Amino acid sequence: MGCKTLKKVLTLPDSRLRQQSKPVKVFDGALKEIVEAMQLSMEQGPGGVGIAAPQLGEMLRIVTVDCSLGQYSCKNHGRLLMVNPEITYQSGKALGREGCLSVPEWVATVSRSKKVTVSYQDLLGEYHELSATGFEARVIQHELDHLDGVLFIDRVLSVHDLVRRMP
Ligand code: ZN
Repeated sequence: MGCKTLKKVLTLPDSRLRQQSKPVKVFDGALKEIVEAMQLSMEQGPGGVGIAAPQLGEMLRIVTVDCSLGQYSCKNHGRLLMVNPEITYQSGKALGREGCLSVPEWVATVSRSKKVTVSYQDLLGEYHELSATGFEARVIQHELDHLDGVLFIDRVLSVHDLVRRMP
């Protein structure tokens, strides 16, 4: 393990949050290190349930999600690591409150698909597919958006849905 230092999560207006991330092509030790840094940020950082590699300045298509953290009563798959994830099916619509480590001052009500099916690769490059619903589906959609430079504030339907966090 060694002594790992917590990487800083990028916040707006850092332009890297607006860039398209690149697909992972090499499944090596460098990839593993990026994933470890992401998981450390989720566990010891400001308490997120998901993080995307570009939030740490790594412009690659990797996300980690863990909806078993905190007090979420929804059904979930525990810790997920998704390399090159793609939504292959989505259905339904639901409104829910979202925030983001990269947009620390705001929360908003955002419309997302209720159910998603995602295909992705693991650390070894093996392909997997899973279906998620409810809050976990929301977190997955939020994190995948980061890979295309999209933030939850872009999906807010009305300014009235945007709420400034209390300091
Ligand atoms: Zn986010």
